[in-house]
Amino acid sequence: MVRIREDDINEIRNKAGIVDIISRYLPVYRKGKSYTALCPFHDDHTPSLSISEDKQIYKCFVCGAGGNVFSFVQNYEKITFPEAVVKVASLIDYPLDYEADDVREKIDPHKETLYRILEDTIKYSMYELNNTEAKKQYLEGRGLDERVRQRFEIGYNPPNDALYRFLKAKGYTD
Ligand SMILES: [Zn+2]
Repeated sequence: MVRIREDDINEIRNKAGIVDIISRYLPVYRKGKSYTALCPFHDDHTPSLSISEDKQIYKCFVCGAGGNVFSFVQNYEKITFPEAVVKVASLIDYPLDYEADDVREKIDPHKETLYRILEDTIKYSMYELNNTEAKKQYLEGRGLDERVRQRFEIGYNPPNDALYRFLKAKGYTD
């Protein structure tokens, strides 16, 4: 079960434009004040799906499919209502906090520590690279500019035990 707050559901529905969301899935054509598309819910050969930007609903005059932005995504993707809300939220970059209690994993403390070590290692290596002008220039020369280095978290580890000492100082045991 995914639990989403009612306020979030309303806000996502208000923020998501139905024409925008449907056009992520199908080509949508403008027709006067409304929009049309080939209906994905029956074997459609003429655009029978009518989409109203004003009312934020869609309706197929042949098979009767209709609803709002959530029902479209739910029926198109064959997912549950809460899953459709999560999907729409991600399509419009809405920061949604929700609880998915059937997928909540027990966090293994050992793995948790390993992940933290990895993160610290990345931070340390990126810091080292930024303080090693020659290495930076070498990478620049190979087309790996600042943006690429940040994006792929490229770093440099000096050939000594500095990383080991850094992690030790952060309290990690052998
Ligand atoms: Zn239809």
